[in-house]
Amino acid sequence: MIIHSDWHIHSEYSYDASNPLEGIAAAAKKQELRLMGITDHANYNDNDFLGNLRDSVAGVTEAQKKYPFLVLGVELTPIAKPQFDYIAANGGSREGYEDPEEGVPFPIELAASKEELMKMGVRYAIGASHWRVDAPKRIRAEFDFDACIKEWYRQQVWLACDERVTILGHPWYIGNGAWYEDFSVIPRSMNMDIAAALKENGKYVECNSHFFRNKMAQEKFRHQYAEFLRELFEMGIPVTYGSDSHHNYFDARADVEKYLVEAGFKDGDISEIAEKDLW
Ligand SMILES: [Zn+2]
Ligand SMILES: [Zn+2]
Repeated sequence: MIIHSDWHIHSEYSYDASNPLEGIAAAAKKQELRLMGITDHANYNDNDFLGNLRDSVAGVTEAQKKYPFLVLGVELTPIAKPQFDYIAANGGSREGYEDPEEGVPFPIELAASKEELMKMGVRYAIGASHWRVDAPKRIRAEFDFDACIKEWYRQQVWLACDERVTILGHPWYIGNGAWYEDFSVIPRSMNMDIAAALKENGKYVECNSHFFRNKMAQEKFRHQYAEFLRELFEMGIPVTYGSDSHHNYFDARADVEKYLVEAGFKDGDISEIAEKDLW
């Protein structure tokens, strides 16, 4: 095995996950993983402002007494600034929010400031794109391949430059697998910009098991994607592993490592977050 820690796990406190912390801790022992990062969502899928995160903080802090190898993190997703402002002005609820009509892309915001996160005891953040924030009603809008690539690029460069982001999570993840046949449809110049921003700002990049296990991701794509990660690694950007498990935590490493090893990764190449980079 060349993967010895997992920095992207969702617990029962995430609105979309069910892994009990006890189960995650048991898996860590069985798989001899050194550290496990719990990164529940803070992205307003729940109607309560930061509701999932508060529960996650309380749960993980309690579990750490028994399992000191658990590390408290968070997964932050870009949201539209008008939505953030609405929630802040409405006592923490997004109930009743309607996207305003706008002719220009919405500015991006994340759920909380670094100061607020640190005050809660969060030690690092994964910043990851999940949906468009550039267009009103972005999730329901008709799918536009080129617009999506441009929007993911915008968000990922933005995340790579933001002080709250420790790890760029699952670069180029997209729910409908739109570009999972051939990774070369993503312009190389975009990847080089993202890489430059990651390097300049001392960020990590994630190797997420999704790309190597999800049926939408084709063989060719998986090899190209592992090579993309290897190129970033060789530029000096540390690569962390994230199972991104939501339910029934299990060992996905063999499926992922097959592609990583072919792309040139060796034992010692997959990083932990260095103590100096934890908050
Ligand atoms: Zn995610
Ligand atoms: Zn996740």
